[in-house]
Amino acid sequence: MNKDSVKLPKKGMDKKEILDMMKSYGQGDANYRDSKTWSLVYYIGEEHTQFLKDAYSLYFSENALNPMAFQSLKRFESEVIRMTANLLNGDRNVVGSMTSGGTESCLLPVVTYRDLARSKRRLWIKKPEMIAPESIHVAWEKAAHYFDVKMVHAPVGKDYRVDVEAVKKLINRNTIMLLGSAPSYPHGVIDPIEELGAIAHENNIPLHVDSCLGGFLLPFVERLGYDIPAFDFRVPGVTSISADVHKYGYSAKGASTVLYKNMDYMRHQIYAYTDWSGGIYVSAGMLGTRPGGAIAAAWASMKALGEDGYLEKTRIVMEATKKIMDGIKSIPELEIVGSPDMSVFAYKSRSKKVNIYAVGDQMEQKGWNIDRLQRPKALHAMVTPLHERVVDEYISDLKKSVEYVRGKPGLASKGNAAMYGMIANVPLRGMIKKEVLKMMEEMYSPEGKMPSLASGGPGEEKEPLVMKVAARVLNVIDRFRKEE
Ligand SMILES: *Cc1c(COP(=O)(O)O)cnc(C)c1O
Repeated sequence: MNKDSVKLPKKGMDKKEILDMMKSYGQGDANYRDSKTWSLVYYIGEEHTQFLKDAYSLYFSENALNPMAFQSLKRFESEVIRMTANLLNGDRNVVGSMTSGGTESCLLPVVTYRDLARSKRRLWIKKPEMIAPESIHVAWEKAAHYFDVKMVHAPVGKDYRVDVEAVKKLINRNTIMLLGSAPSYPHGVIDPIEELGAIAHENNIPLHVDSCLGGFLLPFVERLGYDIPAFDFRVPGVTSISADVHKYGYSAKGASTVLYKNMDYMRHQIYAYTDWSGGIYVSAGMLGTRPGGAIAAAWASMKALGEDGYLEKTRIVMEATKKIMDGIKSIPELEIVGSPDMSVFAYKSRSKKVNIYAVGDQMEQKGWNIDRLQRPKALHAMVTPLHERVVDEYISDLKKSVEYVRGKPGLASKGNAAMYGMIANVPLRGMIKKEVLKMMEEMYSPEGKMPSLASGGPGEEKEPLVMKVAARVLNVIDRFRKEE
């Protein structure tokens, strides 16, 4: 990186030059346009993307911090919430707010239920606890950490759904909320929400359903006739749901929703401070200034796709998913993890001869962006409509990769596979956490050592963060061994 390029230029630069620079920086990025990625981007084509940009730019400068000043944005927000509440079979009492993303939609209910518990039922609560499946999205671990609520994990069964009996036993007087996923990010399975709802109801504890991933897909999966368990507001005991518009709602990033059964719950999400020198402040979420564009584009995306649009996209997604899963099942060395309820799934190796991470390495050499799971050791995929056109290529590459790995038993101890194998090794967790944190400090240090900038030029080999961490942990172990 050129030292001067990171300083504010003395004189403003030519705008065309700036845009060209920006384009060149992106050349080494993950290639979602050709459907090589299986997470992060929910891209359904240039035409829709251009439409989202148009909608976004109409409200590019507007700020949803003050809904009085920009009533248009409040209207978009209210309508997105209503449309989402309907999709999730909420009655007219359901309320909610738009947030900046799934993470904020997971952070907020924890504050809400902590304060609800403190406000009414359980004044004695000193150390609030939340009970969640061990497969719950990491955003909830973050919430527990931020808001000093104890995360209590309930184990998942052989089918990767939460063990309801275990949840029941973990409830105590400090429990402020229960959690389930619809579906879980790692395994794509829906937790037994009806059973959880019954327990929640019985114990008078709120139950949140994390449907960040499924909220805009499952309603259509159901309409298409697939057999999926009830997970939404129809289930007695469910008090709130999070659903991301910027995932299967195909909106611009920065758009999610959090919905509550009624205002008695949501009330505790609203923050007000009336003694500020700057005046009276009140807000429904974590952000102050909120980008109007993200809210407007979410509304526009839902209006543009409509029921028939979402149904059609979902049909394509589910068919492509079945095709890929069938392809994977046709490879004797591989198997699908559990039985996924929608279009997110993982697959692992059933053969000692085939290391799944080594298969991932081969797939990356063939140009795919592959996500790894650590429990179980598996590869992961999230299917979007445009993947339809690459299913055959993916399966054919997967077959070749498995074939290659099977013939080369040494591969598991080489390259990325060895690293991932080590990262998944439980006894090293403390060391790994230390190294990851150190690496973040370096990335955010005054020198700003960004791994992706240091080695991410086009054509150069890219190393994911996890690889660098693993390499460093290996170094530490090596040093340790030498000192012994
Ligand atoms: C994506 C996701 C989140 C977090 O959402 P972000 O938009 O990435 O912040 C939370 N829960 C589940 C189940 C998810 O899939």
